[in-house]
Amino acid sequence: MLSDPKVLRLLELLVERKVSALEPAFAPRRDTWVSYPFAEAELGADPAYVTQLLEDLHRLGYLDRQFAERVVFCPACNSQDLKLVASCPKCGSQHLTRLTVLRHKNCGYLAPESEFQRGGERVCPKCRVELALVGADYERLGGRHRCASCGELVEAPVERWHCRACRRAYDKGDVREQVMYSYLLNKAQLARLRAERIPKARVREFLTREGYEVQESVRQVGRSGAEHEVDMLAVKRTGPLEHRVVVGFASGEEAVDSEEVVKLYAKAYDVNAQDTILVASPRLSAEAGQFAAHYHIRVYNAEDLDRPDSPAAR
Ligand SMILES: [Zn+2]
Ligand SMILES: [Zn+2]
Ligand SMILES: [Zn+2]
Repeated sequence: MLSDPKVLRLLELLVERKVSALEPAFAPRRDTWVSYPFAEAELGADPAYVTQLLEDLHRLGYLDRQFAERVVFCPACNSQDLKLVASCPKCGSQHLTRLTVLRHKNCGYLAPESEFQRGGERVCPKCRVELALVGADYERLGGRHRCASCGELVEAPVERWHCRACRRAYDKGDVREQVMYSYLLNKAQLARLRAERIPKARVREFLTREGYEVQESVRQVGRSGAEHEVDMLAVKRTGPLEHRVVVGFASGEEAVDSEEVVKLYAKAYDVNAQDTILVASPRLSAEAGQFAAHYHIRVYNAEDLDRPDSPAAR
């Protein structure tokens, strides 16, 4: 998957922080509900392909998935323009007004707060006792509704979704819902992509453009009879002539040291390469740079591969 230059390009954009995350958009279609406009434009692919790809990249650990939004929409016309309508369970009227209900603990009388008001005090309308302490004398029961049509004190109104677009109505559980995720680059993979995959892809792109046939991780038997694992071997044939380039990728905590240069030189010499390239991540040490110059090894520091004079940009 990562050998696909477009996929790598997408990850690069995340690495370079041109975009911080791939954000979803609700876009109902025959095959998917979610769209990732940025990724689709970059990849030139349709939403179903991109949604699957992002999920795969998440599964492989390259992308982290984050909850973005939960959308509810009309099962008939896909509109999100829904309104939750509450109505009286007794008469069906939507004319409900919210009120706070109190309950006198002693006698159990339950009524809207306004019925308990006597001047500046609270008095139970049933037993005429003054209520002083909430919790001890009386309870506050919070949100109830009074139906203006039939007078019913409604504890749980009937709630239904109304679609403003197609005017259909649904029971509360009958609308469709879709959870959407955004994707971010995984932090650990970010470091790896920077150090390995992206430099590799850049060099491969460059050599391919120059007419080379490029193979990665190939085993080659050298003139000495020893077998070598070559990170990248690029071969260009012009008539009877064959030009072979060995590319080595090395990384170090802070810099790549001279030992890597010597090892790569010996390997390239043994497999009869005319040119040798070393890609050092993040960079080559000063001493190793002198070795490389001595052995005529071309060096690219991974951290510089984005610059305009890098081989990939030329
Ligand atoms: Zn009613
Ligand atoms: Zn009472
Ligand atoms: Zn609708």
